[in-house]
Amino acid sequence: MARPLLMIPGPIEVSPAVLDACSGPPPSHVSPGIIDAVGVAIARMREVWRSEDDSQPFILSGGGTLSMEVALCNVLEPGDRAVVVHTGYFSARFAEMARRRSATVVVVHAEPGETADLSRVHAALKAAPTKALLITHVDTSTGVRTNPKPLCELARSLGTLSIVDGVCATAGETFEMAAWGADVYLTASQKALGLPPGLALMVASSRAFSARHRLSLQPPMSMDWRQWLPIHAAYEDRRGSYFSTPNTTLIHALRVSLDEIVADGGIHGRIARHQRVADELRGAWSHLGLSLLCVQERNAANTLSAVRYPAGVGPELISAVKARGVVVAGGLLPDFKAQYFRVGHMGYVTEEPELLRRTVQAIGEALIACGHSCDVVGAVAKITG
Ligand SMILES: *Cc1c(COP(=O)(O)O)cnc(C)c1O
Repeated sequence: MARPLLMIPGPIEVSPAVLDACSGPPPSHVSPGIIDAVGVAIARMREVWRSEDDSQPFILSGGGTLSMEVALCNVLEPGDRAVVVHTGYFSARFAEMARRRSATVVVVHAEPGETADLSRVHAALKAAPTKALLITHVDTSTGVRTNPKPLCELARSLGTLSIVDGVCATAGETFEMAAWGADVYLTASQKALGLPPGLALMVASSRAFSARHRLSLQPPMSMDWRQWLPIHAAYEDRRGSYFSTPNTTLIHALRVSLDEIVADGGIHGRIARHQRVADELRGAWSHLGLSLLCVQERNAANTLSAVRYPAGVGPELISAVKARGVVVAGGLLPDFKAQYFRVGHMGYVTEEPELLRRTVQAIGEALIACGHSCDVVGAVAKITG
């Protein structure tokens, strides 16, 4: 059988140009091609993140979890207070990281499938001086999108830094870093940015950077923005520099994927396409008789669907889908994981309606095989692309 189609919420299918950029012998970190690629990628990140000219992008080797931890350890130190907007699995991770940094952590919980209540976040922030507000843009465990705008604006008005985990959102969901006054927006390469796993990426505002300068407990050296700043600045001026060897192969691919993102009707065109694809897929799920874990449709992410199993069907659906050539993911939220599955729809596949139709068809046929009757042809027809 042909290679299965990877439709999980990261890693994802990558474009042919990105795949091509990833092959070949590894370039030197100070070769002209890589110096140029880093310089271009830094500038493109400001464009995709919609951040201020004086914001600082960072390109590090690692995953989304490292990105989160780098952001926290450059802003928080023991005794600082942090408020976490808890919308699922990855928000819980954020809270635990802040605790390990010996911060005082206050968690504002959302019901599963819901977003957190703004007035409760407001009350938590106002209860005591707070260094940072931690937000998960799209929680990949629930498929719920939180609107970061009012939260970032609220934090800004109270002198609190906002740190937003965009790992399953950046380049697939609207984010206006400058206009909303956000302080860190972080991601990883294997989600909506459309690359293989391996790069931890973030942009820090000048306010976040000043918080780093004021820390009395230094971050670990390899995670320190101050250590990395001169390196990134040198590359942006088209000079090679060295602190720790970067992932040169992926950086070459990063430039290609960021070029694709901005070429694609700009970042807004790219996000609009993710939104349209998500709407069409939700039409297909509903036609198959399925409902989302996300309670309010307007909070459903552009980048993935967390879909409840219909009555009489359970996690055996995932292997039935796989037998039809498509890989989807199981549930992730502790206590609920046996009740739903997840389909990623970000990056390259959003340009390829044929791949989306293949996914809907495989899920529809697998549902029938598991005993749930549904109209597969009608569901596939919802993808008009
Ligand atoms: C995937 C993901 C992470 C973790 O990324 P890793 O690369 O697996 O470490 C963190 N936050 C969110 C929202 C994610 O979707």
